[in-house]
Amino acid sequence: MEQLTERVSKLNDKEIRKGADYVLYWMQMYKRADHNHALNFAIEKANELGLPLLVYEGLKYYYPWASDRLHTFILEGVNEKRDAFRDRGISYVFYLQKDSDSPKQTVKALARDAALIVTDDYPCFIIPSHNGAIAEKAEVPVFAVDSNGIIPMSVFEKEEYAAYTIRPKIKRVLDRYFVPFEEAEIRTKDPDINPDCPDTVFSADEIANLVSKCDVDHSVAPSPIYKGGTANARIRLAKFVDEILPHYHETRNKCEKDGSSRLSAYLHFGFISSLEAALATKEADAPEEAKEAFLEELIVRRELSFNFTRFNPKYDSLESLPDWARETMREHVDDKREYIYSLEELEAGETHDELWNAAQREMVLTGEMHNYIRMLWGKNVIAWSETYEQAFAVLEHLNNKYCLDGRDPNSYAGILWCFGKHDRPWFERPVFGKMRYMTSGSTGKKFGSAKYIEWTKSLEEDPGLPETPRQSSLF
Ligand SMILES: Cc1cc2nc3c(=O)[nH]c(=O)nc-3n(C[C@H](O)[C@H](O)[C@H](O)COP(=O)(O)OP(=O)(O)OC[C@H]3O[C@@H](n4cnc5c(N)ncnc54)[C@H](O)[C@@H]3O)c2cc1C
Repeated sequence: MEQLTERVSKLNDKEIRKGADYVLYWMQMYKRADHNHALNFAIEKANELGLPLLVYEGLKYYYPWASDRLHTFILEGVNEKRDAFRDRGISYVFYLQKDSDSPKQTVKALARDAALIVTDDYPCFIIPSHNGAIAEKAEVPVFAVDSNGIIPMSVFEKEEYAAYTIRPKIKRVLDRYFVPFEEAEIRTKDPDINPDCPDTVFSADEIANLVSKCDVDHSVAPSPIYKGGTANARIRLAKFVDEILPHYHETRNKCEKDGSSRLSAYLHFGFISSLEAALATKEADAPEEAKEAFLEELIVRRELSFNFTRFNPKYDSLESLPDWARETMREHVDDKREYIYSLEELEAGETHDELWNAAQREMVLTGEMHNYIRMLWGKNVIAWSETYEQAFAVLEHLNNKYCLDGRDPNSYAGILWCFGKHDRPWFERPVFGKMRYMTSGSTGKKFGSAKYIEWTKSLEEDPGLPETPRQSSLF
């Protein structure tokens, strides 16, 4: 792999195909038609070669945790991209691979008529192995472009220890990157390339039927609250900036309120860029401390997670923890656990702890779990599992299965934070050792936990978000 610019790396040494029909952008994670450095790079390459651009997005049935919930959210963002790319003079093909009888190897087939391939440089889940495989199989150059965050991941040369080590580095360079995005324009416009690949064309009211025919986990239902796509992401961003951001520093940890952005699923699927959210925040009419608190999460915390998964190949295991955390686990491995719950009991939200069960309920029913309760949720699974490894496996599985924002650098950094990642040693405790300790009793006192529990119980009958700070009588 050769790093060509701060955002672009070349993944193989193949020659550009002469006489090709198009440049191919294989869109995997940045599912948007603007604010996308990979798309911009693909347009620039197409312009250099005097070719049109073909954007390809595929959805396979067999990626880990594929379900009705994740499929529906992705499909909800397809038709708006078709329209947006058509308007820009770019061809867009979406292929839903339903089961093992459906056509395979579509990217390889599309590559046969492509001058080169551009794709997304996402540092975790299935994307690094996709990129490795296509770089090997394709007979043309493959470029991976980083459009994950505001600052290119390559600006940081190694894994950062914690927020306090990356924060000053971010502050030093932020002004250079925290600027409006300049969209490239394709010169050879052709929105009607008819490539050698099936195109799944559907209307919004066909999504449920399409998903029912896919060989995915049908037990995880689509979210009744969060709907996919860039338009929906922008509606949520506007509501956040207008009604919630002015109170964010006071309400972000209030699980019983709609007091944070709830943008993480949109950011995860790339429906919206963190730059767009950050610029809207900068311009907003809100107190500086609210803006700072939000940008700390959106930039410092989020980019720390991307830095972690980019530089630590063991990001999906306890082996990526700092020495002190691994040592404390060795010392406490035999401590007696007061409660032990199986995966089935946890998944069903059947523990003695009502607050924990409520968090699990929120996740299962809505596809999200509030940030503050998520920390407690993770900590309690450590307390209630026979081993630390089992606790990690359960957390990874439940988070990635049910959460729309799962399978993300933030998922791994968040889960491992419960085990001490990006944190510091605290006082010695049974089972937790020096890992920070949280209990439902003390955590539940810091927000309206009774109201939160009540809200999660109403979700099945009456799905919806809690009240925003503006609607709430407390403000
Ligand atoms: C056990 C556990 C599991 C987690 N799993 C995920 C996950 O699967 N996906 C995910 O995106 N986040 C995860 N997080 C981090 C955090 O809980 C979510 O990002 C947050 O709940 C998203 O809600 P929001 O969009 O309203 O956040 P806001 O408070 O509005 O923050 C804005 C954005 O900043 C980023 N952000 C916020 N908090 C964090 C954080 N602690 N670390 C890194 N980035 C952050 C997110 O992109 C978020 O959308 C996890 C945390 C824990 C403790």
